[in-house]
This record gives sequence, structure tokens and C-alpha cells, in this order.
Amino acid sequence: MTRAVDIADLAAGVRAGARQAVARAITLVESSKPAHRDQASALLAELAPDTGSAVRVGISGVPGAGKSTFINAMGSRLVGRGHRVAVVAVDPSSRRTGGSILGDRTRMAELTALEGAFVRPSPSGRHLGGVARATRESMLVLEAAGYDVVIVETVGVGQNEIAVSEMVDTFLLLTLARAGDQLQGIKRGILELADVIAVNKADGDGALPARAAARELSGALRLVMSDKELRRPPVLTCSAATGEGLDEVWQAVLDHRAYLEEGGSLEARRAQQQEDWMWAMVDAHLTDGVREAPEVRAARAELTAAVRSGELSAVDGTARILELYAAHLRGD
Ligand code: GDP
Repeated sequence: MTRAVDIADLAAGVRAGARQAVARAITLVESSKPAHRDQASALLAELAPDTGSAVRVGISGVPGAGKSTFINAMGSRLVGRGHRVAVVAVDPSSRRTGGSILGDRTRMAELTALEGAFVRPSPSGRHLGGVARATRESMLVLEAAGYDVVIVETVGVGQNEIAVSEMVDTFLLLTLARAGDQLQGIKRGILELADVIAVNKADGDGALPARAAARELSGALRLVMSDKELRRPPVLTCSAATGEGLDEVWQAVLDHRAYLEEGGSLEARRAQQQEDWMWAMVDAHLTDGVREAPEVRAARAELTAAVRSGELSAVDGTARILELYAAHLRGD
């Protein structure tokens, strides 16, 4: 069988919504091997006409905010109403442990077991750029497979949110009634990225503090985003555990999408995302190209040791690496 037939077959399987084909296609787009990248490009080109129609929602929050409980409950609800729900994640492995927080599929056991759902753990990788690329391409595969709601989950640790906001239409921030969390969010500029904010765990003894926190957050947003032209994200409360408030949160997501569609800014947002994405891929290609060049690889251990010991400055180390890469490009 030729490669072209393989890809056409795989694309047909994906379009038919066959789980195995979808899983194989995602494994292919997650791969960073050059031969796989070529096949992945061919596959994505085949699938392109069938992508773009899903509701793309990003969900972020610090570990413990209740993301997996929320997505499990919300996703199951949506599947119950006839939607097909896919969950993907952006979670570059922690450098210290090499482990991925969002890598565990058992976090959403109920949703994972449903026929109408597809839950994919975060692709592994140490570089946010590579992980984000794989997730974005997986999202396209899932759209072509007929999933009409795609949830992209990420952990609230800095750059991840920006990467996710660049691939979704609506960004939902799950937060808690702990004052520290709100301050963190404001400091890191994450509140500005949020299109909808939900204070989770508004149940039992947590109900009152959650409502108070939502009011405070609303007030803080009025100060931070004083421009009347700007749309301020609604701040709701919910309980992923009891299900209370989940329908309202989903409605706020749909309202935001309707707002984008009415103003013509859904197209503008996606056009901007395409442009940003192109440059992000150029960056990623360059970074990978430099790191993977045989000349750089050969000198890597020695250079890093010299920089670590102080024998070579980081600036000189950089120059040396770029020289080696230039030599690689010239074919010396
Ligand atoms: P994640 O790290 O953001 O994915 O958070 P998890 O979904 O794993 O939730 C962290 C902890 O909070 C777990 O023990 C959950 O059972 C609990 N939890 C999640 N949502 C709620 C909620 O709405 N109410 C209460 N009381 N607990 C919750």
C-alpha cells in the first residue's frame, strides 16, 4: 500500500468517526518525527474542509480548582443532550518530575466511558510550542471526526493559558474562593484572557464564600477593564460536584460565542489565530531545527557542561550553537 492510500484511508476513517482511526490520526499528528510530520500535513490537508465548526472552549485553573471534575460533569451533560464532546489538553511536562498533571485519563472516568466522548491526555513533551502544536492539530482531527464540542484543558501555570487562548473561541477560567487565587490571576494577566469566569466549589459551606468571591472578582474586573467598549467576562459560581450552576456556565460560553459571531469577530479571532499560529510554527521549526541539527547534538554535552561550570558564558554558548547550526545549513 502506498503512503497516499494510507492517508486517504485514515482520513476516511476519521471522517466516519471511527475511534481507532481517530486515535491513530492523533498519534500521527502528535509525533515530531520528520516523516510523520509530512504524513500529518497531508492528513490535515485532507481533513481541512471538515474542520472549524466545533464550539472550541479552553478551560484553565490551578491544580485543585476542579477542572477534571468540571469537565467530567459538563461533558457528560452535553453528551446526554446529543453533543459529541472531545477533551484534549495542553500540559508540558513539569521539568522537575517529567510527569504531566493532565496525563491521567482516569481523572474523567465517567466521561471517558461514554460513546459520544473522546478524552485524550496531553501529548508529552517538554516544550510548550510542540505540545500546543500537537493539541491544536488533534483538535482539527476531532472536529473532522464530528465532535461538535472540543474542550482544551490546561493547568494555570503561566504561558499555557496564552497558548490555549490562541486555539479556542472561548476561554473559561475556573477559580476558587481563595483570595490568593484571584490575586494571582490578576497579576499574571489571566483574568484578561478569560471570556467567562466561574468560581467553583460553590456548595455546602463553600457556597457563601464562592458568591462573595464572585462579587469581588466582578468588582476587580470593573477596575482593571474600565474601558466601556471592552466586554467584561461574566463571573458566575458553580459546583462541579453537585452540578449546580453548570448549565448557566455553559450558557455563558454559548453567549460569548454568539457575541463573537454577531460582531463578526469569530472570523477575525480565528484569522488572527491562523496568523499567530504560522509564526509560532516558524519559531517551533527553528527551535527544533537548531536542537536536532547533528552538529549541535554532537557538541551539546560539552557545551552545556562548559556553560554550567562557568567556563563558557551563556552568550558565547549561544553564539557557538548558532554557528554550528549555520554550518549545518550550509552543509559544511
Ligand atoms: P483539578 O486539579 O483542577 O483537575 O481538580 P479536580 O477536579 O481533581 O478536583 C480537586 C478536588 O476538588 C477533588 O478532591 C474534587 O473532588 C474536589 N472538587 C472538584 N469540584 C468540586 C466542587 O464543585 N465542590 C467540591 N466541594 N469539591 C470539588
